[in-house]
Amino acid sequence: MSKEFVDVLVIGAGPSGCVSSSYLKKNNVNVKVVEKTKFPRLVVGESLIPRVMDHFDEAGLFPALDKMGFEKKLGARFLRGHEVCIFDFSDKFGEGWDWTWQVPRADFDNTLAQEVINKGIDLEFETEVVDIRFNGTDSVTTVKNKDGETKEIHSKFVIDSSGYGRVLPRLLDLEKPSKLSPHSAIFSHVKDINREEGEEGTLISFDIIETEVWLWVIPFSNGNTSVGIVGPTDYIENLSENGDTTEALRKAISLSDYYVKRFGNVDFLFEPRHLKDYSCSVKQLFGDGYALTGNASEFLDPVFSSGMAFATESGMLAAKLALRQLNGEKIDWQKEYTDYILYGVDVFTTYVKEWYTGNLQELFFHRPENEDVKRKICAVLAGYVWNKDNPFVRKHDTVIKNLANLIKMEKQQEQS
Ligand code: FAD
Repeated sequence: MSKEFVDVLVIGAGPSGCVSSSYLKKNNVNVKVVEKTKFPRLVVGESLIPRVMDHFDEAGLFPALDKMGFEKKLGARFLRGHEVCIFDFSDKFGEGWDWTWQVPRADFDNTLAQEVINKGIDLEFETEVVDIRFNGTDSVTTVKNKDGETKEIHSKFVIDSSGYGRVLPRLLDLEKPSKLSPHSAIFSHVKDINREEGEEGTLISFDIIETEVWLWVIPFSNGNTSVGIVGPTDYIENLSENGDTTEALRKAISLSDYYVKRFGNVDFLFEPRHLKDYSCSVKQLFGDGYALTGNASEFLDPVFSSGMAFATESGMLAAKLALRQLNGEKIDWQKEYTDYILYGVDVFTTYVKEWYTGNLQELFFHRPENEDVKRKICAVLAGYVWNKDNPFVRKHDTVIKNLANLIKMEKQQEQS
């Protein structure tokens, strides 16, 4: 079997793997990426949040993405019947980017991967990791290409950015059930022939069908729009009689008073995909000689579009720590990696849970709006979940519940 020797092997060329490999290359590390599929490939996760821009910028990937003319996302709109709540990222608490993109991921990820190659990184497509053996922090990874040929890659560190491939969690028995209750989604893209002119046509929106069920509408600059339904797994499975995803997504669209006219009669560009019980977790985020990043570690829920931001945050941090370790520093991975990443995961977990209890929805649709509260929540929705100056970050476990209770009491008083 042939052998290769690198400093760092990155598994997966999604956003997480592209950010980490680019950062390492920028710092003169001998890094290689192996990717199971051929790009462009379809993947879900089309609504970004501003925090990702920090990482694409630092990794040197921003200019290539910026040239692509992806639809700019300046905020997000939440709908509930006739009620509307719009967040504007330029009006948020604290520092940070005030815009990002909403993107067809096939094109977006392909741009990232091509830029990684342009930077001189050895990225091998259609090459799948099938085995890995660790000897201290050094490891030998066996990969297989599309012709069935295998080879060994010897590396000093492995960054597993394999998304739902979850290479190391599977091979090292690190899988752990998510703390969140089981939710699923069905989505597709449509040619948006009924798109309105101006802002209405391009605005990213989340339409609440029931407290735990919502429809996403993510318009792209190429004239297509992503439409998806999310809800408890039982609910999503019962949308069609025999698991027909086209019938299920049509039914879901018919439940949206706001969007039924725009999407009720359009064809899906591919058979709607069913993503069942999408939340996942792991027992540990690192071990001797490896770190897990992005969806290869933890995925919560799409409701606040936090997936990509965690993918790039963890990809960037794992790369920085791996670089320092290669340079001879002793790294406290528990403190510098796990504790840091899990702080942000905990904040978003609270927001996801409080979304599905309905408490956060109480805050979003309460009128008159409290501008101060809104700006602080907006910073969280922009992905700035490590800014402890923000009380909606620092006191995330109590503040939403308490405010929602106050609103409920106020409503009860008005009714009595
Ligand atoms: P990926 O983008 O999945 O990339 C992993 C790569 O690893 C893939 O290209 C894969 O082919 C490769 N790979 C897998 N196995 C192997 C192997 N054995 N060897 C080599 N390569 C391998 N996030 C958002 O930010 N916004 C959203 O709107 C959003 N919506 C979502 C909706 C749903 C229903 C779900 C389930 C998720 C959503 N997400 C969203 C999450 C988002 O999809 C992920 O968080 C994001 O894609 C993670 O990026 P990644 O780089 O970790 O993994």
